[in-house]
Amino acid sequence: MENRDAGLVEKISVLKKKRNAVILVHNYQLGEVQDIADFTGDSLELSQNAAKTGADVIVFCGVHFMAETASILCPDKVVLLPDLNAGCPMANMITAERLRAMKKEHPHAVVVCYINSSAEVKAESNICCTSANAVKVIESLDAQEILFVPDQYLGHYISSRTGKKMILWPGFCPTHVRIQPERISELKREYPQAKVVVHPECLPEVIALADAVLSTSGMCRYARRDEVREMVVGTEIGLMYRLRKENPGKRFIPVSEQAVCPNMKLITLEKVLRSLEEMSPEVKVSREIRLRAIAAVDKMLKVSREL
Ligand code: SF4
Repeated sequence: MENRDAGLVEKISVLKKKRNAVILVHNYQLGEVQDIADFTGDSLELSQNAAKTGADVIVFCGVHFMAETASILCPDKVVLLPDLNAGCPMANMITAERLRAMKKEHPHAVVVCYINSSAEVKAESNICCTSANAVKVIESLDAQEILFVPDQYLGHYISSRTGKKMILWPGFCPTHVRIQPERISELKREYPQAKVVVHPECLPEVIALADAVLSTSGMCRYARRDEVREMVVGTEIGLMYRLRKENPGKRFIPVSEQAVCPNMKLITLEKVLRSLEEMSPEVKVSREIRLRAIAAVDKMLKVSREL
């Protein structure tokens, strides 16, 4: 670690204790930010951690919808997002207004929203899901008609796994669509022993080539298996840091070095320190939206507890 980083890390640690703060970090964050985490995980694990933390302040190193979810779950805590520009382009592909219009066209449908959505969209939904529990959530529903927003590719994957027909919103993750099937085929020839593991936000042609389709933390657990010595990884590049750190001696090959989410990289050590010094920028979901959104998030957490 550079001296500059060591100084920042020390200051963050002191201030974190003073504020009684917890630092939650998504698996796609920069390596130096992952290193200061109290907990690193996927969206499901981070929301579960936010829900049970005893801290007064949550510093969320991720993107805006994740901080909002923490605010929905913990209305009495201060939730800091060190850079408010860290949004999720996929989450921004749907608005509450457009969802309300879609609901009018399908008045009997159950609305399932991927956690990658705004609090307002969650408030319009019946239940939420993450990539880790999406199949279980859909299987738990007794519904004739399901609207799934906003990720068409996650929706397509769940539909193929569960056999349930769903009406899909045409959103997508601009980072995961950069992962191309042709490249996976090349890597399979180059590394015939490697397991191919991809994220369900990937294109269906990519998913068809995978040995396993998993959330980021699911990939971390898979990588720990004894039989896995080499792994071709189809997700955002930030996960490589954690995979390599936790599994020295194993080989991890990213499908695409271009699979970078620029929003996830906006959070830096400097910004984490500043947010703790200034106790801002804060993400706070209004009471009115929160009361409508919490039901969808709570239902998801209940299904996950039953996993
Ligand atoms: S990787 Fe994709 S889904 Fe995740 S935050 Fe970035 S744009 Fe959104």
